[in-house]
Amino acid sequence: MEPPKIWREKRGKYLAMGVECSDCMTKQFPFTENCTKCGSKNVKKYKLATTGKVLYFSTVTQTTDEMMVCTPYLIAIIELADGIKVTGQIVDCNLSEAKEGMNVRMVFRVLARNGSEGLIRYGYKFAPI
Ligand SMILES: [Zn+2]
Repeated sequence: MEPPKIWREKRGKYLAMGVECSDCMTKQFPFTENCTKCGSKNVKKYKLATTGKVLYFSTVTQTTDEMMVCTPYLIAIIELADGIKVTGQIVDCNLSEAKEGMNVRMVFRVLARNGSEGLIRYGYKFAPI
């Protein structure tokens, strides 16, 4: 991943920031300048909930070169306590122990390493509670 893309996604991936519309009160993620429901520009940043539950998950065994060091790993759709749904990797969990409905907490971890440029990307993942 190129540094400009990392910079653009920093509020979402590094700070776990979403937006809440002050007009229709809709919470959204990833970060956006306009409400995707009503189009208002009257949005304010807010910190995503840090706990949630696994809705669905799958095991990843084939991926990009920079992610192959992590395989196999679990990828899941998580419903956070504030209702936002995010995709994230499940860590600190054996593949056979993952379950739908499992409670998880957001943790900050390395997402990928780019060996040729030496970049290390960080972001959120989820660990069982
Ligand atoms: Zn709105």
